[in-house]
Amino acid sequence: MLELGQLQAFYGPAQALFGVDLRLQVGQMLVLQGLNGAGKSTLLKSIVGLEVQTRGRICMRLDERAEPVDMGAWPAYRRVRAGLGYVAEDRRLFAGLTVRENLLITGGSVQQLDWVLERFALLKPMLGRSAAQMSGGEQQMLATARALMMRPRLLLLDEPCEGIAPVLVETMVQTLIDLRSQGLSLLVAEQNRQLVQAADQVVELVAGKVRDSTTR
Ligand code: ATP
Repeated sequence: MLELGQLQAFYGPAQALFGVDLRLQVGQMLVLQGLNGAGKSTLLKSIVGLEVQTRGRICMRLDERAEPVDMGAWPAYRRVRAGLGYVAEDRRLFAGLTVRENLLITGGSVQQLDWVLERFALLKPMLGRSAAQMSGGEQQMLATARALMMRPRLLLLDEPCEGIAPVLVETMVQTLIDLRSQGLSLLVAEQNRQLVQAADQVVELVAGKVRDSTTR
């Protein structure tokens, strides 16, 4: 599904990733770990093509039978069209829009809205509420639901459980596990133990390099 080869990432002259190799199979969940500043967010941004300059290979298989394509030079919108979904750490919601508007602004269909709301039932009674009036955990659910409106095949999530109430953490973890069982591939930067235990692969970054990789 995704293969990174000798990936380097730069913020102007400052290098943040130093030759990362990584492979993710279709329908699997890879959890990325590492201390603050290890390069987890940078890795996700490199894959989606935002805010950072990269060198090396970022290959995705666009469909099961096709050869992998190197997306490294593509703009972010083209990567999203090819099947990538991304939820940033700061969620990037439209605070002044309602939950329903935040979901439909993606251009996703009403059928897809129904599908997404089945997975995030907590959002159903909040459709008319503005995103600014939601708790952090509810906003995280909305940001994840919004990414799913585009029907991605690979979803990148930056610390989805960070700073949210324990009861919502459990819902989030279970929702991600359910999405995997429906064939979605996931790459998640996260420290949550339950999610780490459920992962097919755990990769630890230290100072912009892979220190450890465990496959289950
Ligand atoms: P955290 O858990 O704190 O989010 P992280 O593992 O996601 O950490 P990154 O945010 O990817 O780490 O940061 C990796 C390195 O890149 C750090 O040295 C950081 O200071 C640097 N960095 C991150 N964003 C920028 C930026 N916009 N400009 C310059 N350097 C940056």
